[in-house]
Amino acid sequence: KASNPLSFFLQAKMSRPVQARRLEGIDKNIWVEFVKLAATYSKVNLGQGFPDFPAPDFLTEAFTRALGGGNHMLHQYTRAFGHPPLVKVLAQFFEKLLGRDLDPMTNVMVTVGAYQALFCCFQALVDEGDEVIIIEPFFDCYEPMVKMAGGTPVFVPLRPNPPKDGKLMSSADWQLDPAELVSKFSERTKAIVLNSPNNPLGKVFNRRELGLIAELCVKHDVLCISDEVYEWLVYDGKQHIRIATLQGMWDRTVIIGSAGKTFSATGWKVGWVVGPDRLLQHLRTVHQNSVYHCATIAQEAVAQGFQRELMLYGKPESYFVQLPKELQQKRDWLVQSLDGVGMKPIVPEGTYFLVADISQFKSDVPDVPNSDEPYDYRFAKWMVKNKGLAAIPLSAFYSEGHKNNYTNFIRFCFAKEEATLKAANDILQKWKQEKTS
Ligand code: PMP
Repeated sequence: KASNPLSFFLQAKMSRPVQARRLEGIDKNIWVEFVKLAATYSKVNLGQGFPDFPAPDFLTEAFTRALGGGNHMLHQYTRAFGHPPLVKVLAQFFEKLLGRDLDPMTNVMVTVGAYQALFCCFQALVDEGDEVIIIEPFFDCYEPMVKMAGGTPVFVPLRPNPPKDGKLMSSADWQLDPAELVSKFSERTKAIVLNSPNNPLGKVFNRRELGLIAELCVKHDVLCISDEVYEWLVYDGKQHIRIATLQGMWDRTVIIGSAGKTFSATGWKVGWVVGPDRLLQHLRTVHQNSVYHCATIAQEAVAQGFQRELMLYGKPESYFVQLPKELQQKRDWLVQSLDGVGMKPIVPEGTYFLVADISQFKSDVPDVPNSDEPYDYRFAKWMVKNKGLAAIPLSAFYSEGHKNNYTNFIRFCFAKEEATLKAANDILQKWKQEKTS
């Protein structure tokens, strides 16, 4: 039988592994899976973290002005490390927050969302063999990003303490065990990732907790990658403390922020890093060899948003004052809904998110012993398919080794219109009635 003379070459090509070794074991992504499920089945989507209410008028108007105004150069490339008006106003703003002088050209860099800021940090600062401490539960991308850089993630969990006198649990009840944290630092530790306010729990780290982390960073000469994308979303009069303001920390901290969360416009994907030039110079190297430029018009509009906020700083009209008030109300609605049906909420001190205990609903979704899939995954999938309500399993925010300790919780996003939260409440109430009837 005459064979195709090309077949040898085709076969030879196809038997060769195509992907780089650094991608091994990091191909699964919770968002890809659950965003698709929510799109297919959900009537009410409290899964992925984005607001379904509009971004503020002053921001969208700034975008429209930039788009249609007289400056046609806003349609062209701008400065690679950040549109000058944006890095300038960010420097002014963070000078206020950090109490130190900043150079907009060397202490600030604009990125494609906080996500790219994180990627630049890990690529620029983590070497083969370095260890990076990650506090669990954590925003899931930290782990694969550390691994892609050749580093080894070292996990330390926040441990829940029972709440006092029959009260609802608070995210503040989840704490680091100081001795356990100390034990994770070694000469191999290059960095720690801090995310306060924390996604998914909504924990806002207090001064004592940050003090211990800072002390250990200084003692072991460790860098701090401080993901502060929810910096303005703090409730009940709590204060967001920036670890870079603690003694010895400025020089070793990269602060990460996001206009998406700050101005309720997650689709714009404008983020930034603020930090010392000795660290940012290396982030610029990664940026110039990967993304290079970020969209000029979105940067221009965000710059104008910050100019407004600088003028109104601390005043009642400031968006950074108004947004947390509105979100606190939304948090309270969802807390009430969940508490009312026995899906015990952990009251968050900050962020868009709230974690709830599903133990009392286990009879509806029986456990499958020895299943590969953690229980909360199956529960969240069942809930979206059968009840039309989308949420994210908490174990997605844990490392492989610790996932199975936290399978009785799911995460809801409450940065939603009142009508959306009411619709969620209706689903939960109906479900509870079905259970009891
Ligand atoms: N860090 C945390 C903790 C987040 O929750 C998110 C978004 N969910 C990001 C970073 C990424 O932010 P951005 O959309 O600006 O890329």
